[in-house]
Amino acid sequence: MFKADLRAIRFTLYEHLKVQQLFELDAFSHLSREECDAIIDQCLRFATEVTGPLNAPGDRAGCGLADGRVTTPPGFPEAWRRLFELGLMSFTMPVKAGGFGGPRAIGVVLAELQSGANTAFQMYPGLTHGAADLLETFGSPRDHERFLAPMLAGRFAGTMCLTEPHAGSDVGATRTRARRLEGDVYAIQGTKIFISSGDHDLTENIVHMVLARIEGAPPGTKGLSLFIVPKRWVEEDGRLGEPNDVTTVSIEHKLGIRASATATLAFGDGGRCRGILVGGRPHEGMRQMFRMMNGARIAVGVQGIAVASAAYLNALAYARERLQGSSVRHFKDPNAPRVAIIEHADVRRLLLEMKAKVEGMRTLAVKLALHADLAGALQATDEGRAAYHEGQVDLLTPIVKAYCADQAFRIAELAIQVYGGAGYVEDHPVEQYLRDAKIFSIYEGTNHIQALDLVARKLQSRGGANLAAFLSEIGGFVERHRARPGLAAEIGALGEAAGALQRAGGALIEFFTSGRLEQVTLVASPFLEVMAEVTLAHLLLDAAVVAEAGRAAAEEEHHQEEVDFYRGKVMAAKFFVNFVLPGVHAKLAAIVGADRSALDIPDAGFSTAR
Ligand SMILES: Cc1cc2nc3c(=O)[nH]c(=O)nc-3n(C[C@H](O)[C@H](O)[C@H](O)COP(=O)(O)OP(=O)(O)OC[C@H]3O[C@@H](n4cnc5c(N)ncnc54)[C@H](O)[C@@H]3O)c2cc1C
Repeated sequence: MFKADLRAIRFTLYEHLKVQQLFELDAFSHLSREECDAIIDQCLRFATEVTGPLNAPGDRAGCGLADGRVTTPPGFPEAWRRLFELGLMSFTMPVKAGGFGGPRAIGVVLAELQSGANTAFQMYPGLTHGAADLLETFGSPRDHERFLAPMLAGRFAGTMCLTEPHAGSDVGATRTRARRLEGDVYAIQGTKIFISSGDHDLTENIVHMVLARIEGAPPGTKGLSLFIVPKRWVEEDGRLGEPNDVTTVSIEHKLGIRASATATLAFGDGGRCRGILVGGRPHEGMRQMFRMMNGARIAVGVQGIAVASAAYLNALAYARERLQGSSVRHFKDPNAPRVAIIEHADVRRLLLEMKAKVEGMRTLAVKLALHADLAGALQATDEGRAAYHEGQVDLLTPIVKAYCADQAFRIAELAIQVYGGAGYVEDHPVEQYLRDAKIFSIYEGTNHIQALDLVARKLQSRGGANLAAFLSEIGGFVERHRARPGLAAEIGALGEAAGALQRAGGALIEFFTSGRLEQVTLVASPFLEVMAEVTLAHLLLDAAVVAEAGRAAAEEEHHQEEVDFYRGKVMAAKFFVNFVLPGVHAKLAAIVGADRSALDIPDAGFSTAR
């Protein structure tokens, strides 16, 4: 059953990160905290009552392909209709495009609730949102009328089409071709695989955003252009035209997110597929597609947080009820009463690791979204601060994507461990969470591609200013709070871990300057983990400082549940710093050690078995 922790979410939004500061800015002055809370409540009801109950049945039913038509599981078309009645998909879209113009910081929470309830269902509106945002940014006014407006109304859905059989991580190897017919209209021919929401029965039409190479364009990513390729052609006046020669060849049978149709699509097999060049600009496909990809990378990280949170809260509920064994304090007494497993130290360790990571990752995602909101809102009035916030979005995006994706799988695994055998069978939701979560580290650029993006581009961008601002924020926090009663040791440990991160960064620079590029790629993923864990430790300790003040107030009011809530925040921070953060020093040792065994081992040395 889907579970969410609104108290923890509200703490992150309003007590810790103070998202309400946004409502004082022009860009968000049309909204208030009360309105945002009402939308969050509405979204939670939708997730709990509509899509949540479809999660397990949808997983079992999967999608079907018969007579060239793809069907989603029972209940999905009705849920899609309800979603658009509530206007949840367009919450963060600009008002001028027909959305609410809501902050992304709140949008992250809406996405978390929806993905946590039903990850597979949320793929359909998630991709539609990404494609709509891309069109809103780069499309012409005519594209907006023909495609964007029906997408925001729920009549059309969207996809992103990059992957081809021989072009996965290597997008530059794309072979789909485009030949100019007239104006911005091109003939499209090629095959795309693994296309999420590539075909389904939720909408009248599907708008595919397709990367293709115009005849004569240079090789690699620089020669790619982006096209709007509707499943059914859309006439100038918005009427639906004939089918656009987009064929669904097959859909995948897969480990998780089984209710999300993953399709192989053939474009132009009959020579009649037409696409519209986005913005009328050739060879700008990657720049344009990166708008959708960056949004999707953050969205995948949020999917990770969503599944991890649902897994944690289910495991917690089970641990409170399942009686097994007696307390270790009475280990000699065969008649000692049985206790709920939450009383066993090891189960508490598992639960607290899950809680700390879920809450730390959520804080990171909301903080990133807040940076994005502030960057947009300040652009016209304060270029310097807008650039700072934009830089933090840039720097933190690969961390949100990769760390939250990896941890979602790990946390789902811990949840199964808490359940014991009951977690391994279908009677409980956690085995599905584990299966659903695995894809997060693979799609939208594998986690290693994220790590390469971090070390090869993001650390250096703006001359290293983004990284310097990030480190100085942590340094300032450590300086301000290093003598804080009750947290001094942990804050000192954060300072040391931040030092380790800087040394790891120094080692990367040395590998770069001495031309040891293979060594850079070898340690890129551990480096990303080090940076993610330092980031989470900082955010959790920052939250703990806020929680200490909240606890003092709650104690004065004798509000025990609130006192416990705030104590939980402090314990989560302490646990993370004492049980997880020390791992960064081991990873640092591996990074600076520059061991080459993974590079030097002969291929046959892995095994001589064939
Ligand atoms: C369920 C599902 C949904 C998907 N949805 C979409 C979608 O909607 N749209 C879309 O376009 N695609 C989609 N994909 C495709 C997905 O983005 C790709 O699977 C992913 O980018 C990896 O490509 P690949 O599978 O070809 O793996 P490969 O690129 O072959 O990678 C295999 C392994 O090699 C590593 N590797 C590859 N290149 C390098 C390198 N240069 N350096 C170091 N290591 C490297 C990878 O990290 C990985 O570990 C989806 C995939 C799945 C399974």
